[in-house]
Amino acid sequence: MNSTSSLVKLQDIDTQLLEISELLGDLPVKVDQLIKDEQQLKENIGQRKNRIKEIDLEVSKKDLQVKSLTVKIDKLKDQLFLVKTNKQYDALSQEIDYLKEELDNIELNELELIEEKDTLSTESEERENNLESLTEDLHKRKSNLESLIEESSVKKMNLESDRSDIVKELSGSVISKYDRVFVARNGLAVVETLGTSCGGCGSIVPPQKIAELKQGTTLQTCDVCSRFLYWPAKKD
Ligand SMILES: [Zn+2]
Repeated sequence: MNSTSSLVKLQDIDTQLLEISELLGDLPVKVDQLIKDEQQLKENIGQRKNRIKEIDLEVSKKDLQVKSLTVKIDKLKDQLFLVKTNKQYDALSQEIDYLKEELDNIELNELELIEEKDTLSTESEERENNLESLTEDLHKRKSNLESLIEESSVKKMNLESDRSDIVKELSGSVISKYDRVFVARNGLAVVETLGTSCGGCGSIVPPQKIAELKQGTTLQTCDVCSRFLYWPAKKD
């Protein structure tokens, strides 16, 4: 095998390795996000249920207040029949009015709380229904992602072993030049010629180099971008 075809294979392996490392970088983040979504929905439901409990407590407190105020008002009303003077009657009436207003406020507040509870209950119910199907969906997607991660890891190992075989076929100086260009040129160090142009940067490749490339016996690089060049294989 000549060095050019080894370099072409090396580039192909490294391109696949780059794709895998991007994928492997991305997948765990996606799995984490799915888990977070589920947790958030659960917290969301929990918050609503806690608030419902709070409301129940507040409402039963207010029920007691309403009862004791009603008793108080009834007693005062009874006293109205017993008063001797207008002044006493007015004072008593005023107190009754004041307590009635207080009662109205409490009852209004209670109604608002019950409305809030109704809304929260409906929302919780909807979310709980969603949670069940979401959880199922999340677990399915999570396990798909996890098996993809595993497959990619196996593929990565195989590619790395192929890579070390190819590297043995190339000289140290070629490898170190390849590595430098690979880093400098965003992971593309070996390119086909396109007609008489470099397939990487589009610069014209001099006729002498083209002739050498066609023979395929020596390694040639682009004068402008330094990428290794190869003459495309004849397509049948
Ligand atoms: Zn070039």
